Amino acid sequence: MEFFQPEYYRKTESGAIKCLLCERTCVLKEGGKGFCGANKNEDGELVNLVYGHPVALNIDPVEKKPLNRFLQGSFTYSLGTLGCNFNCQWCQNYQISQKHFDEKFPSDIVLPDEIVTGAIQSGCMSVSYTYNEPAIFYPYAKDIGSIAKENGLKNIFVTNGYQTEAIIKDMKNWVDAANVDLKCFNRENHLKYTGGDLDIVLRNIKSLADSPVHIEITSLIIPGFNDSDEEISNIAKFISSELGTEVPWHVSAFHPDYKMTDRKSTSREKVYRAVEIGLSAGLKFVYPGNVW
Ligand code: SF4
Repeated sequence: MEFFQPEYYRKTESGAIKCLLCERTCVLKEGGKGFCGANKNEDGELVNLVYGHPVALNIDPVEKKPLNRFLQGSFTYSLGTLGCNFNCQWCQNYQISQKHFDEKFPSDIVLPDEIVTGAIQSGCMSVSYTYNEPAIFYPYAKDIGSIAKENGLKNIFVTNGYQTEAIIKDMKNWVDAANVDLKCFNRENHLKYTGGDLDIVLRNIKSLADSPVHIEITSLIIPGFNDSDEEISNIAKFISSELGTEVPWHVSAFHPDYKMTDRKSTSREKVYRAVEIGLSAGLKFVYPGNVW
């Protein structure tokens, strides 16, 4: 099956290239790498350095993505690479997301068809692009996804929603489900703590919700960052009014990690308060996460 290939980069007038995989749109001079460390300008072409180099490969329950209303009870073949286009201060996968691929230490290539074979042999019904931001390894993800689709598997994107519009449009051709992080509802904090513009994330979430892609939203509830009733309510109202009351919302407990070690884990009460707020905003499916 042939898929239309969107423009992954564009040459600039100064002879550099502009990466178009995500809205950071890094401009890379010859030999230069982007913010994520996963894409490089080699001889005027964009090279996806992490292509074929997953650093995490697991068979996970689909509910761990988390997706609670898509292929329930199935397993998903999950992979991620090094690097990320965000720098979230609380990242719980920072050991891989905040590390750059080093070409000096070559590792074996895992080809797209080998990933799909692994998924089929392990009885998975889908392949998930997860752990770090898949937009930064989009060329690899899409090549896997095209073969997965031919073989009757579904494709799942677990993302921070910071793709360019062209990539979001292209995802709709082959991605079946997405879990998008909505980290907070305060523009200043979003930029300060993740490095990304909240409006772009909201734009992309709305675009995915307005398509056949099954979408679920996740918000990590972080004490003193986004856990006021007002902010939680603003997120819930956004989902309910802009995406629809049927869109599932996962509200998860934070634990101190990476650079955010100055506060305690989210209490069970706070997570259940968020569930209550979500339900009162009209959402039909609100799930607590990381609480026992
Ligand atoms: S994918 Fe990486 S190199 Fe490309 S724009 Fe985003 S951060 Fe920059």
